[in-house]
Amino acid sequence: MGGDELSFIHDAFENNWIAPAGENLSGFEHDLVNYTGASHSAVLASGTAAIHLGLILLDVHPGDVVICQSLTFSASANPITYLGAEPVFVDSEHETWNMCPEALEEAVRDQLAKGKRVKAILPVHLYGMPAQMDRIMDISERYCIPVLEDAAEALGSHIDGKQCGTFGTFGVFSFNGNKIITTSGGGALVSDDEDLIRKSKFLATQAREPAPHYQHIEVGYNYRMSNIIAGIGRGQMRVLDERIRQRRANFEFYRGLLGSIDGITFQPEPEGYHSNRWLTTILVDPDVTGFTREDVRLSLAEDHIESRPVWKPMHQQPLYRKAKYYGNGISCKLFDQGLCLPSGSNLSGSERERITGVLQETILCNV
Ligand SMILES: *Cc1c(COP(=O)(O)O)cnc(C)c1O
Repeated sequence: MGGDELSFIHDAFENNWIAPAGENLSGFEHDLVNYTGASHSAVLASGTAAIHLGLILLDVHPGDVVICQSLTFSASANPITYLGAEPVFVDSEHETWNMCPEALEEAVRDQLAKGKRVKAILPVHLYGMPAQMDRIMDISERYCIPVLEDAAEALGSHIDGKQCGTFGTFGVFSFNGNKIITTSGGGALVSDDEDLIRKSKFLATQAREPAPHYQHIEVGYNYRMSNIIAGIGRGQMRVLDERIRQRRANFEFYRGLLGSIDGITFQPEPEGYHSNRWLTTILVDPDVTGFTREDVRLSLAEDHIESRPVWKPMHQQPLYRKAKYYGNGISCKLFDQGLCLPSGSNLSGSERERITGVLQETILCNV
């Protein structure tokens, strides 16, 4: 926490707005609009809820196709399933590890040729690294298929100053406990389309029609953020730039430690791209290093230091074994060789020393 969160929570108590309504909600939405440059925002119960509402507002219905990045957390894809639509997965590229524009175009063409209704494209900015949005938006425009950006991990990341979440029709952010800023749980939908955001708030509050009694035409959801939680969000927005600085400093620390070792590479950051470096992730090429990413993970675990393999591609998950996939296996290689290193904003000097000790032992003993 940054320090100002409690004062916003205190305001909510003072005003007795212990509800999914109140000043902190509009305040947090205002902060997000200010920071990202999106015109409108709705703060919601989670990032997953934001993806769900975004897809509903993009008119996704049972039997429709949504083309989704395969290398991601399951929360990107599950809302497609909630709607009875069909997720079609697309491989990653090497430049950012995100949705491969060539595989995307192949997927779009093939699905359209099969007579499928392709309703949305869902790229992800993994670990804070922006996807190749110029090329993805070009495909979106040529085929008239809207984009919903999963920027859950990428608040504050940008390409030439344009923030992640503001390229597509919708952008989604998450404030879950592990994200770069957190409200314990929460999410947001942003868009330049005022009507869409107004409609998202309507659906998020049970789709209640304006009438003195309870009148309903559509199915609604209970997806609005609480005014208490939004208070935490307002406080967290004040430290977002500091968190990005800390996360990028973690990346520099690891680059200093591992950057010169043959066979170890980092998630690349192309020219003009600026990642919040939410998590520092490496690839370990066992043919060059003589050890695997699992060797590194297990040595760290032996010393009670947690690290994790990068996301397992969705097309390799039992849950989505029947889903269609387009690509050349790059996401599988990223999973096999990829490791997320300890990346907390509060990583201390002594923790860095412990990590350095274990990594030097594992790596230097093997080279
Ligand atoms: C965290 C995350 C989500 C889901 O956000 P919640 O707020 O946890 O529901 C979706 N997509 C990605 C890529 C995430 O990392």
